[in-house]
Amino acid sequence: MLEKIVIANRGEIALRILRACHALGIRTVAVHSTVDRDLKHVRLANESVCIGPAPSTESYLNIPALISAAEVTDAVAIHPGYGFLSENADFAERVEKSGFIFIGPRPETIRMMGDKVEAIRAMKKAGVPCVPGSDGPLGEDPDENMRLAREIGYPVIIKAAGGGGGRGMRVVHSEAHLLNAISLTRTEAATAFGNPMVYMEKFLEKPRHIEFQVLADIHGNAIHLGERDCSMQRRHQKVIEEAPAPGITEEQRTRMGEVCAQACRDIGYRGAGTFEFLYEEGNFYFIEMNTRVQVEHPVTEMITGVDIIKEQLRIAAGEPLSYRQEQIRINGHAVECRINAEDPENFLPQPGTIDTFHPPGGPGIRLDSHIYSGYRVPPNYDSMIGKLIAHGEDRASALARMRVALEEIVIDGIKTNIPLHQELVTDTAFQEGGTNIHYLEKKLGL
Ligand code: ADP
Repeated sequence: MLEKIVIANRGEIALRILRACHALGIRTVAVHSTVDRDLKHVRLANESVCIGPAPSTESYLNIPALISAAEVTDAVAIHPGYGFLSENADFAERVEKSGFIFIGPRPETIRMMGDKVEAIRAMKKAGVPCVPGSDGPLGEDPDENMRLAREIGYPVIIKAAGGGGGRGMRVVHSEAHLLNAISLTRTEAATAFGNPMVYMEKFLEKPRHIEFQVLADIHGNAIHLGERDCSMQRRHQKVIEEAPAPGITEEQRTRMGEVCAQACRDIGYRGAGTFEFLYEEGNFYFIEMNTRVQVEHPVTEMITGVDIIKEQLRIAAGEPLSYRQEQIRINGHAVECRINAEDPENFLPQPGTIDTFHPPGGPGIRLDSHIYSGYRVPPNYDSMIGKLIAHGEDRASALARMRVALEEIVIDGIKTNIPLHQELVTDTAFQEGGTNIHYLEKKLGL
């Protein structure tokens, strides 16, 4: 196994990775910014290194500082977590060129998936169903682009090949606006992502967001762990996730899961990954692949019993996957609420000190969080301070346990979005299951 690794992240995911490492006997190096000295995982790590000041560009995104931290501590590998540098191909390459193991896919894979046009091309080739659209980037010929949009059928969406985080997209409802939308998106994409390439897709009006978790080792084995439904979103940010997805049949799961696992074998994928799909009227449409562990991975862990971070570490150490596909069984249902330090009314971040913290508990309850009484949430990073996960024998019992846990948890001193979650888990449409990606914003009157 790996002897010692650097955890190149912060907050709950850094703590989650540390726990998996220590359970496997792997020593840990926490890296942190000056405002993060008191993070729980920094206290628990075998060693810690301060890598820079609060702004993430000078610390968690500072590639030379991260590589030096691995060098001075004699670590053998770097786990990037999610966010920050986790999907940065240049970082993965620098890590490997410096003689360390990058706990994630090969840099070429990350680079390919970061270019959506390339990613879609590769996925189509591997037999993954994609949204009807342009075959590659749009050209300059206006007649050709109008013909293409007519063929796809309005509304269409113009998307930047280099886009991310829900930016660089424009919906077009009629031909009169098409050419203008293409040139605006091109200009924005060039400025924001340094890549003016755009492509066109059919705009799906009421899709759900359903994604498949995969694991692939370096010996050619790839398996899927079923799907998650992450349709409860605000501004493309997931708020509640669950597994399995309501209404998805065993047959659909097996078919789509196998398509994803096969695509991993075809492209020589390595590590944990997620295939994201929009799902509408019984059909799946690939939109992108995330080449890292995701925030919502615990719901899959709860229903399959697979420790996804442990598998990432094993794969990085060159070991084969611990499971064959036929050993993966889905047990019950799990729901995750992302707890954010934010005002539940206007969603503004609420940094500050947590005076009192009492975690919830009981059967099926899991809390992945780095907070403690007296912890100060810094204003410099993402506002997510933890994830509350509830598992039950079926969806109704998972939701019932979540409702109780949300009543029980106490986080005093700062505002959080717990009241919003309390409202959502008792919402009639959500309780029925299968609401689409616009449901939350509509409910909030946005
Ligand atoms: P990003 O990398 O910016 O997250 P995605 O391609 O994953 O970009 O798209 C982000 C979100 O935009 C999706 O989750 C969905 O809500 C919406 N979206 C993207 N493509 C389409 C489409 N063809 N039809 C409808 N909505 C779309």
